[in-house]
Amino acid sequence: MKTVNAPPPLFSIPRLLFSAAVLLFFPMTSHAQENEPKPRTALIYDDIFLEHDTGPGFPESADRLRMMTKHLKAHPVSERLLWMGPDEKIDPMPWILEMHEEDYVKELKRACEAAEGVTRLGADNPISPRTYDVAVKAVAASLTAVDAVMAGRVNNAFAAVRPPGHHAMPDRAKGFCFFGNAAIAARYAQNHHKLERVMIVDWDVHHGDGTQEMFLKDPTVFFFSTHQYPFYPGPSGSPDIIGDGAGKGFNLNAPLAPGGGDEAVLKVFRTTLTEAFRKFKPQFLIISAGFDAHEADPLGALGWSSDCYAELTQILRALCREQGHERIVSLLEGGYSERGITEGVRRHIEALEKP
Ligand SMILES: [Zn+2]
Repeated sequence: MKTVNAPPPLFSIPRLLFSAAVLLFFPMTSHAQENEPKPRTALIYDDIFLEHDTGPGFPESADRLRMMTKHLKAHPVSERLLWMGPDEKIDPMPWILEMHEEDYVKELKRACEAAEGVTRLGADNPISPRTYDVAVKAVAASLTAVDAVMAGRVNNAFAAVRPPGHHAMPDRAKGFCFFGNAAIAARYAQNHHKLERVMIVDWDVHHGDGTQEMFLKDPTVFFFSTHQYPFYPGPSGSPDIIGDGAGKGFNLNAPLAPGGGDEAVLKVFRTTLTEAFRKFKPQFLIISAGFDAHEADPLGALGWSSDCYAELTQILRALCREQGHERIVSLLEGGYSERGITEGVRRHIEALEKP
C-alpha cells in the first residue's frame, strides 16, 4: 500500500533557517548558472554592419558577414559562444579621437550625410549614407570585446565587424578602412583598463600600415605583421621598418612571398613572433584577423588552408597562457572568399573557444 506523507509545513523555523543559510552562502546561484558552463568566447556582431553599402561587385561587401554568420550558426560552436551586440553604453567617439584627427572624423561624417547612394572617398573607399554610423559602431563593438574580456565574462572575443580598420590613417580613410579598430581597441585597453603593454598581431594578407603608423614611436604597443610582400599597400611592410625613437624595436614586419602556404607563416609564428612575444610580455593581445591570405581568396596569394587559422590561433593562445592570461580580442579585417570568411573564420573561433 502506498503511504501518503503529509506535506511539510510551508513555514517552520528550521526551514526558514535553512533557506537563510542557502541565501547567505549561494546568493547568486541559479539553476541555469549551475548547469550551463561559462562561455569561453564572445562573438560581437550586429546587423548594422550590413548597412555599410559599398555598391555592386565590390569585394568588401555585406555579403561577407551574411555568409559568415550563416555558416557559424549552422555549426555547434555557435551555441557555445556568448553572442553580444556592441554595448550601447560605450561612447566610442573619445577613443576614435585618440587615434584620428578631428577634421578627418568630421569630414567623413559630412561626406556620408551628403552621399546619395554609393560614392567614393578616395580610390578604395566607397561610402554611403550609413557608412559613418556603421564605422563608429564597429569601433564600439571592438571596445565591447575588450570590456567583455577584461570583465572576465569570457576568456577571449571575436568581433565580426565591418568596415575593417587596419589601413585607416590618423587623417584619412584608406584601403576599405575608416577607423583603426585594432589601434583604438589597443589604446582603450591601456587607458580605460590600465594595462601597460598591448601587442597587435596582424595576419591579414595586406600590411596593416594604418596601425603601424599610429604606434611607430610607441614602445607600449608592439605591432607585429605577417603579410604578402611586395603587395598592397606598398613599402610600409618592409622588415626595415622597426619603429622610431622610443618605439624602435617595437614594430616587426615579417613579409611573406606569394605561395608560401601554411608552412611559411607557421614557421614565422613559431620563431620570430614567439621570440618577440616572450620578450615584450604583452598583458593583452589584439589580433587583426584578416582571412584574405586564405587559399581561396581572390586578392591574396599566400595560400593558407582553413586549418592554418586554427594553428595560428593556438600558437597565440599558448603564448598568452605563458604570460598567465588568455586576454585576446580578435577583430575581423579582410577576407574576400566564401571559404576564407566561413571555414577560415570558424576554425579561428573554434580554436579560441577550445578548452
Ligand atoms: Zn587585407
